[in-house]
Amino acid sequence: MMKNPHLEKLTRTHIAFPLIIFSVISVILIYYGIIEKGFQIPNMILLFAGGFFLFTLFEYLMDRYLFHLPATSPKREKFVYTMHGVHHDYPKDKSRLAMPPILSLILATLFFLIFRSLMGDYVFGFLAGFLMGYAVYLAIHYSIHAFKVPGNFLKTLWHHHSIHHYREPSRAFGVSSPFWDMVFGTMPGKTDIDSKS
Ligand SMILES: [Zn+2]
Ligand SMILES: [Zn+2]
Repeated sequence: MMKNPHLEKLTRTHIAFPLIIFSVISVILIYYGIIEKGFQIPNMILLFAGGFFLFTLFEYLMDRYLFHLPATSPKREKFVYTMHGVHHDYPKDKSRLAMPPILSLILATLFFLIFRSLMGDYVFGFLAGFLMGYAVYLAIHYSIHAFKVPGNFLKTLWHHHSIHHYREPSRAFGVSSPFWDMVFGTMPGKTDIDSKS
């Protein structure tokens, strides 16, 4: 993917790194909010839930609008391929299921600044939820590609995401849930599945 072997290595990430990093950061944010800023636990739970919910929307919008940008210029094509196209080409490559932690940490810092300017101290609980939304999304996405379809209710997530990969890349963008696909009308049609397979 990169000509420089060191840069190439940077494009690969072990899934455990971001999961651990963002879980730890979330705990620290919650701790700081409660201990230093004096938030009550119920308020923290609400803020956490709000941030988590916003991440599910963010995740949907990223896959729908950024990761599948039409390749109108070579630069854009390269960008989309690096961000997401490579995952569509090699969905089973487990080292490419999370962005490099350096990049996600920079983005997390940006989100901290944005949310803090919008909501002040509420940022601690809210960002904790947002980052855990990312960690859960990563864990689900990783599981979908690394593990066999489970025999329980979770199998709908496997099914939903495999439609995005193998049948309709312009539908079924939600990974952690099909909720936003329902809201925005990008659910794959049942007949489509049957006729296209
Ligand atoms: Zn995609
Ligand atoms: Zn995938």
